[in-house]
Amino acid sequence: MSIPKIVILGAGYGGLMTAKGLAKNLNANEAEITLVNQNSYHYITTKLHEPAAGTSHHDHARVSIPSVIDTNRIRFIQDRVTGMKLGEKTVLLENNDPIQYDYLVVGLGSAPETFGIKGLLENAFFIRNINSVRMIREHMEYMFSRYAIEKKEELITIVVGGAGFTGIEYVGELVDRMPELCRDYDIPLEKVRIVNVEAAPTVLPGFDKELVDYAVKYLENKGVEFIVNTPIEECTKDGVILKGGREIKSATVVWTGGVRGNKLVEESGIETMRGRVKVDEYLRAPGHENVFIVGDSSLVFPGESENERPYPPTAQISTQQGQYLGKQLAKVVRGGQFDQPFKYQPKGTVASLGRKEAIGVVGNKKLTGGTAAFMKKIIDLRWLFLLGGVSLVLRKGKL
Ligand code: FAD
Ligand code: NAD
Repeated sequence: MSIPKIVILGAGYGGLMTAKGLAKNLNANEAEITLVNQNSYHYITTKLHEPAAGTSHHDHARVSIPSVIDTNRIRFIQDRVTGMKLGEKTVLLENNDPIQYDYLVVGLGSAPETFGIKGLLENAFFIRNINSVRMIREHMEYMFSRYAIEKKEELITIVVGGAGFTGIEYVGELVDRMPELCRDYDIPLEKVRIVNVEAAPTVLPGFDKELVDYAVKYLENKGVEFIVNTPIEECTKDGVILKGGREIKSATVVWTGGVRGNKLVEESGIETMRGRVKVDEYLRAPGHENVFIVGDSSLVFPGESENERPYPPTAQISTQQGQYLGKQLAKVVRGGQFDQPFKYQPKGTVASLGRKEAIGVVGNKKLTGGTAAFMKKIIDLRWLFLLGGVSLVLRKGKL
């Protein structure tokens, strides 16, 4: 007799937690679990701003997938998903035959939101995955090496578009990296420009004002220029053009202006809002009892009303979704029912400003400086622990 087939797409925070939970909660004769991911490794998205600035090697932000899953229980296919045919319960892959499922969990993460801004896709860099951050670091270094010969200011002007958490964390890493980079290329530090442009009236819109002021003061003291209330309207090969027409010439524009759901989800025919799916209380896609969406491609609202803002897409909620599904879907596969809805429990937010500085709110406590930076490292270590236990923490963890 054939057993139910569960297929999980994407080995990010949501997908990996789902796969590991199902493998733990179901016996081998109860379900066949398949995990598909385009790379052989999981990248720790929450650390990608570090290799993008060059403050750590990209190997610190990735973990081999077979090393953190039970490969006797989970069949791992390294391939790129090219489509989902929900009517036929089939997933299409680039290099392998299509795979059939009884239950599908989609955890394919996000894509940059460019709001149709002219030239961004062609001319800007994105902090997205290992390949993209490696490219940013190498490009930046090459531009610095050219400056030593050409002396053109735009070669050592870095524009970061968007001062949300990704933008701020990246700028924080850049200020840590600059002294070393300038030494390497014999460039006076004061010649380098790091410009962070934000459309909203403040940096980190919506976040605690006292903490935002702390971050801005810290980063400005390190030489960062903030331009707020001013959207980027175009990105060219020479730099960016801001609302009002001002141009900032820059050879390195990094776009951190927001994310949307993975386009494969939209293309599958599931109803979406900016590529994200408003899932039901069991994380199911509307109209599809056997299709679950976790992570950045899902939309979860705090209450019943759609007038509220959905929870922001974070590793924290993605992890909790995966943990939830790892338990609850196991019950359903066994022929039972969901016995509780998904309820997100926000634990707080901590954003790094480089290696030794951070800001955050944990519970009702505001944290800054070294305490916040320490908390950020604990959060990073917790993810390593969830992924691969103490041995992974010892292998990859950094305090
Ligand atoms: P992801 O972790 O993005 O994983 C998706 C997986 O799917 C990847 O392995 C990808 O390779 C794979 N995939 C995609 N397309 C395909 C395809 N076609 N075929 C096969 N595989 C595919 N959140 C926090 O809570 N705390 C933080 O401190 C934090 N810091 C961040 C710092 C940065 C620089 C960034 C960019 C984001 C940060 N976030 C943070 C947000 C967080 O990283 C995301 O919300 C989280 O990664 C989403 O998890 P996910 O499971 O949806 O997908
Ligand atoms: P975001 O949507 O949170 O921020 C994007 C910023 O870009 C916004 O402030 C927006 O006003 C600005 N922007 C948009 N269009 C612009 C334009 N034309 N010109 C200039 N600025 C523009 O996106 P993000 O920072 O990439 O974060 C994505 C998700 O990941 C969020 O949910 C965030 O909470 C999460 N995240 C969390 C952490 C953390 O917890 N430490 C770190 C990074 C990201």
